[in-house]
Amino acid sequence: MDEQKDIMIPEPLLMPVIAVEYSLFWESLSKNELRVQKCAECATLRYPPNPMCSVCQYFDHTWELMSGNGEVYSYVVTHQPTNSAFIGRTPLATVIIELDEGPHLISNILNISPSEIKIGMRVRVVFIKMDDQITLPFFELID
Ligand SMILES: [Zn+2]
Repeated sequence: MDEQKDIMIPEPLLMPVIAVEYSLFWESLSKNELRVQKCAECATLRYPPNPMCSVCQYFDHTWELMSGNGEVYSYVVTHQPTNSAFIGRTPLATVIIELDEGPHLISNILNISPSEIKIGMRVRVVFIKMDDQITLPFFELID
């Protein structure tokens, strides 16, 4: 996985709250690892973390290491700040990344104008440490 980089990132509007049952997910991010749950019964990968497999309703799982590579599955560009938190932050692209292993993550792509984003663009994860507890997965284009 890539080292953390000194690059411009969009400030998150709100920081995530760490649920204790998913602390391993957050600990992995702080080690520059992107892991998702893998059902111990049917091997379905699931993200975001949740207590039960939606396919077989099994609770046990492992945390599978993802490659961090994927592509733009979909995106939306916000132009009008419909909430005061968006003032000065638009246009802002919110992107759904389809990891090569299958799960979808909602994130942002760094260092690209929202007007340049295209479905199918290849991306890789970039880990950005936000504070002492939270590292977030952003994405950048693969050259
Ligand atoms: Zn399952």
